[in-house]
Amino acid sequence: MKILDGRKVSNQIKEEIAIEVDQMKERGEKVPHLAAVLVGNDGASLTYVGSKVRSCKKIGFESTLIHLPEDTSEETLLQQVANLNANDDIDGYIVQLPLPKHIDEQKVLMAVHPDKDVDGFHPTNFGKMALDMESFIPATPFGIMELLRRYEVDTEGKHTVVIGRSHIVGRPISILMSQKGKAANATVTLTHSRTKDIKSMTLQADIIVSALGVPNFLKADMVKKDVVVIDVGITRVPDETRERGYYITGDVDFEAVKEKASYITPVPGGVGPMTIAMLLKNTLLARERHKQKNA
Ligand code: NAP
Repeated sequence: MKILDGRKVSNQIKEEIAIEVDQMKERGEKVPHLAAVLVGNDGASLTYVGSKVRSCKKIGFESTLIHLPEDTSEETLLQQVANLNANDDIDGYIVQLPLPKHIDEQKVLMAVHPDKDVDGFHPTNFGKMALDMESFIPATPFGIMELLRRYEVDTEGKHTVVIGRSHIVGRPISILMSQKGKAANATVTLTHSRTKDIKSMTLQADIIVSALGVPNFLKADMVKKDVVVIDVGITRVPDETRERGYYITGDVDFEAVKEKASYITPVPGGVGPMTIAMLLKNTLLARERHKQKNA
């Protein structure tokens, strides 16, 4: 069994990006600038955004955090989005999800200019991705693909079972892995809460991507020997014995499943850090495309 070490690979990617940023500085060029919009004080969102901003600083990007109160109106948020679209200094930005209930998430994501949509959530980018065109690929599936590529996991012709069909993980990874190319060319089955007998599917899988958010969902008796397991799930489980009051776990019964797996991602330290690294990669791409557009 080999661990797919997302922390190690994400650090490599960040180092590679930092070298490119140094070269930009030496050439006297503008460095990439990522902005993040956060509405409210959701604990997990604060952690994610904080970590994205810190990562920007570490690799030499400029970053701007726009933190708005929980009761921000949809109109005010849409105005912020319009400002970011118009601000030539910002290469890319994200609107941290989830948004408070009184704001229409889809309306906000639709308002993000596709050229600055480094989360890859705008329909223009999603459509281009599905059609093999140049786009921004959502950071989590992009991170999974990069992890598979860097460990040279053989995916060609392999049966991949994806659990979960969300727009940000399950659906895009099922599209990407079924496309032509490296870490792809797989035969993909997309499963969800209405799928009958998931175990019969996972038992046939050479590769499983689990993205449902249910701790211990994937157990050892649901997988075959030598399976490759990508655990995307992140759940905060309350635990008063820990200083922060919770621990993080994935969807997979890691200790038991690892005994049967050929490769497996840990949680934490697997897909999570890759997601941040690929957001930075998308921001670098946004900077390069922005520069070409202005040339
Ligand atoms: P989501 O939007 O809640 O979607 C969950 C998906 O799982 C849905 O398609 C749902 O089916 C399916 N599902 C739920 N219970 C199921 C069950 N018992 N059997 C089969 N399918 C089931 O979640 P998401 O945004 O994709 O996130 C999934 C997990 O990944 C969460 O734990 C999240 O925190 C984590 N995540 C991690 C990262 C990272 O960077 N590592 C990034 C994003 C998300 P239906 O469609 O039928 O409801």
